[in-house]
Amino acid sequence: MKASAREILLIKTGELALKGLNRGTFEAILMKNLRHRLRPIGPCVLRKAQSAIYVEPQSPSFDMDEACERVAKVFGIAAYSRACVVSKEIRAILEAAAEYLEDDLLAAKTFKVEAKRSDKAFPLQSPAICEQAGEYLLERYPHLRVDVHHPELLVMVEIRDFGAYIHARQLPGAGGMPVGSAGRVGLLISGGIDSPVAGYMMAKRGLELLGIHFASPPYTSERAEMKVTSLLEQVASYAGHIELQIVPFTRIQEEIQRTCPEDLFTLIMRRFMMRIATQIGRAEGCGALVTGESVGQVASQTLAALACTDEAAGLPVFRPLIGMDKEEIIAVSRRIETFEISIQPYEDCCTVFTPRHPRTRPKLEKLLEAEAALDAQPLIDEALANVRRVSV
Ligand code: ATP
Ligand code: MG
Repeated sequence: MKASAREILLIKTGELALKGLNRGTFEAILMKNLRHRLRPIGPCVLRKAQSAIYVEPQSPSFDMDEACERVAKVFGIAAYSRACVVSKEIRAILEAAAEYLEDDLLAAKTFKVEAKRSDKAFPLQSPAICEQAGEYLLERYPHLRVDVHHPELLVMVEIRDFGAYIHARQLPGAGGMPVGSAGRVGLLISGGIDSPVAGYMMAKRGLELLGIHFASPPYTSERAEMKVTSLLEQVASYAGHIELQIVPFTRIQEEIQRTCPEDLFTLIMRRFMMRIATQIGRAEGCGALVTGESVGQVASQTLAALACTDEAAGLPVFRPLIGMDKEEIIAVSRRIETFEISIQPYEDCCTVFTPRHPRTRPKLEKLLEAEAALDAQPLIDEALANVRRVSV
């Protein structure tokens, strides 16, 4: 590539652009998220204009492959491409296209040029740009043929605010909304397959995640906590920074086991989780709680059981996996690379205290009756006083 041509990342914002009034705020959040995600790679300048964001590396050691990998996981982006930027002069554009895309042009048999002129001050109209670029490339690469219907290589020339951009491969972005643009939610994360996927899905809708994990040492090990941290680290590659609060749950579980009928253990335990998560969520500015439940997956996820769980929550409970099959959930967890971590065999607090015959059609009165035998609030207060915070 010539010294006058530079390589940048050209990012297209998608759904964002539809947000009318809030567009400015949304773009500002996306820019902040992108900066945060790209900072570890090295210095770069971000500029925005016309529903696009330009990432301009400021050092030759800036790793573009790594930058692309990171950008591909940032929500609020419709598409992105590595592009070469040159001055808005047709000669410079033609030469840059031939050189920057040399490998692709040599490897292809057919191609087509597409031009977009958002800067209307540029003297040539799009069809003229396509025509000149097509001719020039045919001359430089005589083995090529133009195929307007099914080209192997699509050469894009975009005349925009800050320069002319040439690229050949636009890749789909992660979609969704920028994390933080829709508020914050408390994610009940267990260490299983489902809850990290649920967190990923809500982050995609622009929600910042606060992780809440219930741990029952010594029944659950430190390794189980490390597993939750690793899962959140992986989710954070999409969701950005996540704070995790670890709630000591042993006393509560032992008290439930001591005083309540065995067939109600799981549900009473889940109701305690909801009460505690509600208090944490309210204190931390969360507008809702999120779980990885899906209808009928286990005894605690029948309609009746879910209703009993909800009754104990003081915030809306979002269950993004509610209508998904396990296979579908696993497919997402493989794609976001949480699956291999989730299947590591460390005990969860629920597995340790699972009753032999859990109720699938619980009655709320029975639960309330059983809970009356417990002195709930001091137990909850004690758990809340001993929460540990971990930054992921
Ligand atoms: P997962 O795969 O997410 O563990 P699961 O199918 O094993 O889900 P359950 O164990 O019944 O289902 O838990 C249902 C949901 O309750 C989980 O998706 C999670 O949101 C929440 N949950 C369960 N255990 C814990 C825990 N120890 N800490 C925080 N949340 C939990
Ligand atoms: Mg679980």
